[in-house]
Amino acid sequence: MSDVKRVYAFREGDASMKYVLGGKGANLAEMTKLGLPVPPGFTITCETCVEYSQGGNVFPEGLQAEIDQHVADLEGQMGKRLGDAGDPLLVSVRSGAAFSMPGMMDTILNLGLNDTSVRGLIAQTGNDRFAWDSYRRFVQMFSKVVLDVEGDLFENALTTMRQARGVTSDNELSAEDLERLVAQFMEIVGSHVSADEFPVLAEDGRVAFPQDVQLQLRLAIEAVFKSWMNRRAIDYRRLYRIPDDLGTAVNVQTMVFGNKGDSSATGVAFTRNPADGTKEFYGDFLVNAQGEDVVAGIRNTTPIAELHDVMPEVAAELEGVFTALENHYRDMCDIEFTIEQDRLWMLQTRVGKRTAKAALKIAVDMVNESLIEREEAVLRVDPGQLDQLLHPQFDTEATYETLAKGLNASPGAAVGEVVFTADDAVAAVAEGRKVILVRWETTPDDLHGMIAAEGILTSHGGKTSHAAVVARGMGKPCVCGAEKLKIDAGRKRAVVSGADVTLSEGDIISIDGTTGTVVLGSVDLVEPEVSGDFDTILGWADEFRTMGVRANADTPDDAALGRKFGAAGIGLCRTEHMFLGDRKSIVQDMILAQDDAARNAALAQLLDVQTEDYLGIFEAMDGLPVTVRLLDPPLHEFLDDPRELAIEIARAECAGASDAELAAKRKLLEQIDHMAEANPMLGLRGCRLGIMHPEIYAMQVRAITRAACQLKNEGKDPRPEIMIPLVALKDELKTLRDESEKVLADVTAECGTEIDIPIGTMIELPRAALMAERISKVADFFSFGTNDLTQTTFGFSRDDIESKFLPRYLERKILPRNPFETIDDGVTKLVEMGCKLGREGNPGIKLGVCGEHGGDPESVKVFYKIGLDYVSCSPYRVPLARLAAAQAVLAEKTAGSDNK
Ligand code: ADP
Ligand code: MG
Ligand code: MG
Repeated sequence: MSDVKRVYAFREGDASMKYVLGGKGANLAEMTKLGLPVPPGFTITCETCVEYSQGGNVFPEGLQAEIDQHVADLEGQMGKRLGDAGDPLLVSVRSGAAFSMPGMMDTILNLGLNDTSVRGLIAQTGNDRFAWDSYRRFVQMFSKVVLDVEGDLFENALTTMRQARGVTSDNELSAEDLERLVAQFMEIVGSHVSADEFPVLAEDGRVAFPQDVQLQLRLAIEAVFKSWMNRRAIDYRRLYRIPDDLGTAVNVQTMVFGNKGDSSATGVAFTRNPADGTKEFYGDFLVNAQGEDVVAGIRNTTPIAELHDVMPEVAAELEGVFTALENHYRDMCDIEFTIEQDRLWMLQTRVGKRTAKAALKIAVDMVNESLIEREEAVLRVDPGQLDQLLHPQFDTEATYETLAKGLNASPGAAVGEVVFTADDAVAAVAEGRKVILVRWETTPDDLHGMIAAEGILTSHGGKTSHAAVVARGMGKPCVCGAEKLKIDAGRKRAVVSGADVTLSEGDIISIDGTTGTVVLGSVDLVEPEVSGDFDTILGWADEFRTMGVRANADTPDDAALGRKFGAAGIGLCRTEHMFLGDRKSIVQDMILAQDDAARNAALAQLLDVQTEDYLGIFEAMDGLPVTVRLLDPPLHEFLDDPRELAIEIARAECAGASDAELAAKRKLLEQIDHMAEANPMLGLRGCRLGIMHPEIYAMQVRAITRAACQLKNEGKDPRPEIMIPLVALKDELKTLRDESEKVLADVTAECGTEIDIPIGTMIELPRAALMAERISKVADFFSFGTNDLTQTTFGFSRDDIESKFLPRYLERKILPRNPFETIDDGVTKLVEMGCKLGREGNPGIKLGVCGEHGGDPESVKVFYKIGLDYVSCSPYRVPLARLAAAQAVLAEKTAGSDNK
């Protein structure tokens, strides 16, 4: 076992070792290698965390010895010893997994202090205030993170102390105050930690804060290991699909101090603006502060640009580091640093998270700066993230009064009811309401509420606060630091100072995370545009991609939207929506007609309105293919609900309605009951409907052909395609194809126009995929309807599983993900087989996908591999699909060149 290396000094690693050392450790190593000023330290591997968990929370054999060796090396290098009474070495213990998980696991600073070594620190620095401040921070963090003491207990003690001294900031507390606080903190630990839980710390049946620094270190490392499996971390990983078995690394690093007076500071920064991508230094710092002070929103931070005013030399050095990092990583970096008595130290870097808008701008700018190639620019933009830009914004025409202003922390606008807790957000959303989560500041415990909410509003915290970072990651609108809001979460209300307005739970507000605006009431939102950098990147993507992208659209407006977003046609035009609204009564007349005359009258009416529908859609997609699916759902979906009808009859009976009226209603109920099926999804629908009611499909084909002929005669270029749904048998398609062709021939003859309308089918039943070779002989195209294909392959009802068993399946990892969002392996096999067999039977066949998977970037990549000609998705997802299709090609190229 001892030949496994579990601990690496920073100088032994590099950025490529992210899965071994975690992102933080790997980048600390990389910065060390680059010669940047990084306080020395070492990293315990991610794998060790997994060993620790799997072994029932015990250190694997040999680990302790390896750690001891690295501590000894560090002591040698620093010329200080951990726990030394005269000149103690202090370290931080920091978690860091392969993927950044903001705020998931807490860092412990100043480890190595105890009642004796704090005196050594005073002796060494001559700064007793600093030493006691460091000690109280350590006791506070260690007790919270390792001993699980409620953090508020310490915060309350601090507040009480500040009030007693009549000061507003911790910075104004004296050394004596801080020393007294340490004693109070020790008391809190003694009375809130049970000796049963921490037997190693028990003294006379009561827990004492550990004075043994080796024990401090060991407990801290174990706490990091354990935090990997805490609820928050698990939730976060599920949200971002990060595997649970990666583990987190532990970094042990020599402390540097930003809290040593006015020539010391701590800060966070980005090398470019992560909200809009502008090339400028972006971030905040705090003089005389430590660690998380900047992000915790405890004191108001100073913009990084002002560092030049207070510490010009360090500011220049920091700028140099920013440039060095950008040139090295060839990307925007996110940085944590500390200044100890005018000396700069780098504590973290990574390729920074950014909004979609910033991602596009940075990718385009870096191509222009010759830092990267176009291919890389296209590969770098996360298609899933583009969704952010395809969110609504406040209508610039709308008039509204701004209630409050905050920071524009995450773009996009949202309207919803105010809720004050994460649980309330989840409960309201479960009832189908839209909410804005309003908090003083969010914490990782609010994550579930943030996921549920349309948007997030906080009264505190800056652009690097928890709410801002997490919202940006999720692509949710967020306004933070709206200081006018005085939130009383307990009483579920917020007073807006100066505005004489009190927000209560349930009040509607609108927020615009692009501008930081908060409005009372509902503001009209407008649809997004694809322009500027977005358009540039998509233009490059179009050059690389080989697979077509179409839109699913049922109306001329949706068709136009799809076209605006770059769709090369419509892959699925459903007709059932055209049978609703004011058409519903005509459809009902058709279904319930007692004789041919009545049925034909209804059909004639439908023919006229359907012709109008198709005229509009074909015109909007002039010159591009439009695949029209003939009527698919079971007919009873268009009829009244029999339960409601039964109630109506009962009421009519009581009200003494006429016999004739009652008889008519009863007859209707009987008819509806008669049509009921035990399993409508597997019943009389799709092509079966076409075979049972040939007049309906004939009417639809007639309308399609008429509209096409009319447009053609007007000099336009309509390109309809007729798609027959739910085919399982070749002869279903053959029969309906023959019938359709007859109608087609009739109409074209009537109009005196030549038009070629391909006829194909959806492949949405396993049998169709299996027998695709046969079916393809009578099909001009296949369109894989992967929604129904997923339903029928799994035997899952898409409409029900989310509320019934899917969450449990995901939680227990019985399913890796929702198969209706990202195409499942089994369904993929059927699609693959359907394509292969289809091409065997009919080499000229066109193959596409029209399920919602067509807009899921990961599924798009799968479809590219299978060799489909196009995908079709909702108009809003067309840009994502264009990008994903290009990335699929580029990823293959990169993989290919790696093999050479
Ligand atoms: P997170 O993963 O939440 O960002 P970090 O491990 O980066 O947590 O620690 C948070 C902050 O603590 C850092 O940004 C830095 O300011 C401070 N910190 C961590 N280690 C040290 C250290 N060795 N010396 C000084 N400050 C440190
Ligand atoms: Mg943290
Ligand atoms: Mg950090």
